Amino acid sequence: MSEKLLVRRAAVLGAGVMGAQIAAHLVNAGVDTVLFDLPAKDGDPNGIVAKAIANLGKLSPAPLATKALAERIVPANYETGLEHLRGCDLVIEAIAERMDWKQDLYRKIAPFVPATAVLASNTSGLGINALADVLPEELRHRFCGVHFFNPPRYMHLAELIPARGTDPAVLEGLETFLTTTLGKGVVYAKDTPNFIGNRIGVFSILSVIHHTHAFGLGFDEVDGLTGPLLGRPKSATYRTSDVVGLDTMAHVIKTMADTLPDDPWHRYFQSPDWLQALIAKGALGQKTGAGIFRKVGKDIVVLDLAAQDYRPADRGAAPEVVEILKTKDPAEKFRLLRESAHPQARFLWACFRDLFHYSAFHLKDIAETARDVDLAIRWGYGWSLGPFETWQAAGWKQVAQWIADDILAGAAMSSAPLPDWVFDGRDGVHGTEGSYSPAKDAKLPRSSLPVYRRQRFPDPLLGERFPQGETVFENDGVRLWTDGDDIGVVGFKTKMHTVSDAVLDGMQEAIGIAERRFKGLVLWQPKEPFSAGADLAGALGALQAGKLTEFEAMVANFQATSQRIKYSLAPVVAAVRGLALGGGCEFQMHSARTVAHLESYIGLVEAGVGLLPAGGGLKEIAVRASDAAGANGDVFAELKKTFETVAMAKVSTSAVEAKELGLLRAGDRVAFHAQELLYIAKQEALALHETGYRPPMPARRIRVAGDVGIATFRMLLVNMLEGRFISAYDDEIATRIATVLCGGDVDRGAMVDEDWLLKLERKHFVELAQQEKTQARIGHMLKTGKPLRN
Ligand code: NAD
Repeated sequence: MSEKLLVRRAAVLGAGVMGAQIAAHLVNAGVDTVLFDLPAKDGDPNGIVAKAIANLGKLSPAPLATKALAERIVPANYETGLEHLRGCDLVIEAIAERMDWKQDLYRKIAPFVPATAVLASNTSGLGINALADVLPEELRHRFCGVHFFNPPRYMHLAELIPARGTDPAVLEGLETFLTTTLGKGVVYAKDTPNFIGNRIGVFSILSVIHHTHAFGLGFDEVDGLTGPLLGRPKSATYRTSDVVGLDTMAHVIKTMADTLPDDPWHRYFQSPDWLQALIAKGALGQKTGAGIFRKVGKDIVVLDLAAQDYRPADRGAAPEVVEILKTKDPAEKFRLLRESAHPQARFLWACFRDLFHYSAFHLKDIAETARDVDLAIRWGYGWSLGPFETWQAAGWKQVAQWIADDILAGAAMSSAPLPDWVFDGRDGVHGTEGSYSPAKDAKLPRSSLPVYRRQRFPDPLLGERFPQGETVFENDGVRLWTDGDDIGVVGFKTKMHTVSDAVLDGMQEAIGIAERRFKGLVLWQPKEPFSAGADLAGALGALQAGKLTEFEAMVANFQATSQRIKYSLAPVVAAVRGLALGGGCEFQMHSARTVAHLESYIGLVEAGVGLLPAGGGLKEIAVRASDAAGANGDVFAELKKTFETVAMAKVSTSAVEAKELGLLRAGDRVAFHAQELLYIAKQEALALHETGYRPPMPARRIRVAGDVGIATFRMLLVNMLEGRFISAYDDEIATRIATVLCGGDVDRGAMVDEDWLLKLERKHFVELAQQEKTQARIGHMLKTGKPLRN
């Protein structure tokens, strides 16, 4: 086994766009981090870096899991702070993209880097070996490239680029750290310009630019074609360029031109005239308010090359092309695209053809296997399938023949021949044995590094299937399964994992089985979200049909399920990822422990649909407030911390923030890698069992804030109402929330039990549900997905 990389403290050099955000993500992960930048000319020598840290709180999407983490980043500069480096185990360099500046800095810091520390550069495309050249021999084997994508908290990809002398143990240590601690998907890239992600990704953009012009399409039209219809992000091609910055785009293109003189596609590595003109005008995209697209009032306008002006951005994919793209069978879809005379279809085929051609031609030089290319593009660019997967799904041989025909006919962007391996009789590059490596002329399996044993279900490549475990119990709502490791795993079968009657019944059944058969039960969904909450459509149906008794019974069953989770003899661990709203949030509140992925968006959002949490959520907040206050403390002060969260239907922006909002407990765990969530939750369940788990004793004496508490919350609400921060109906809902939290109309400090609070929840929930305004809110949410403030 290789040496572990121990990262007690890290340093990031360069507090620009990337450096500051990488530092933010390190502190998100609980890594003590020093952030460096150049010394300020005047005043505080840490002035530049301090400003960069302050700026982190203003960026969107937020690099920090909670704003309070900003102060955890230690500011430093290269003049007075180099001593800090002596205590760092990992140094990530992210200064401006200049070989000479980076090398100068390396010379300067080398004497301060400890003998076991790892140094890594976040360069986007400079040679890793060239950078290593200036390092002293003993540091050289601890140096490599680590290429994060922007924004580093959210983009899953981290490319790892070894230099010639990098010690394999250093790479494995770093790979393990990047995976588990930072939650990244690691792909090894060879030391070639722009590595894998940007080499293929930027080529794809260049080919789209080329074909946009060749087929006379509009930028908005192309974005309509190259976004979600192809399984790619909504910002598609041109809006992504606006977001990245057109100057940055031009810079990346120039790097391709400068560093890849022998690339057969080299003549396409140049910024088109219109792009240069925009840059010259200072229209750099989102950051300057104008680029390829521009917002005018409420409207979006787009640059029109023929008109040499902006026009309304109202063009998109043609219905007949949309029809083709919706074809289920990928082979049929590609046949239709290639046969169609529609310029949009021909454009799409041309883009795919040249992307496949380019990827196959360069695979051997830039990556070990086709898997690395596909994962780099998926994780770095947000595509649902990489280029090789797309090709293989469409029928490898047929598509290869079409590409070859087009090359011969002079239709492809380059006449470079496809490599021979493409035609060796294969049906693709991915298979059960692994993914194709041209260098080894064999399919190589996934990495066997121990860290990947934590991923029961890795992000699957095309056709890759993992055993689904043994089904123990199943109904219309849930599936309970096991790997034979004494842990049961239960997941929901409903859309968005909403909680239906069948889910409630199934959960109770699953818990019963887990108590008898397993050491613990993990509530885990194979895919995001954790749960969008109660099945609103079902509830609204029952209400409108006047089936009040049925409706009440459903609420009671919800509460019974939460209580069953809480008092299960087998510890129930909730593995939360993505949305956990309403009833979903309440389930995790009742679990023995929650393991939440960093990207967990948790909230008791019932107020948004005119209701209040009645699956035991308010009851649980009251129980916790009573526990926290103890015999003599202030229960109201405890309740106040969470009241606003519920009354305003706040949703956390991360698992860390969910703790601040009182929706997760201090002892709940935060997991960084989505594919490790199940593993970590299972370990928690096992540990709870093995350390003698008992559920809590029934909460029979809950001290409540009573009538005085309700009155105090009322005062807060009256102010908000008068300040027009909330509507009259918001006020009514919030008052009912306060009423339940405070235990109803009883004396301050009175003792109640859980049933008392649950009954209050039910009463106010059912009363609210019967009101017209609530039903309007539910209807609006079901129709638009957005809350209605009536
Ligand atoms: P940036 O311009 O935002 O920040 C560069 C930082 O380097 C600044 O804080 C600046 O003060 C500092 N700096 C400039 N000259 C210096 C010198 N001579 N010595 C020490 N520090 C100096 O750049 P960025 O976008 O954050 O890029 C940083 C690195 O990350 C580059 O290598 C870039 O290629 C790479 N990268 C950028 C992105 C991206 O999307 N921006 C993505 C991945 C990788």
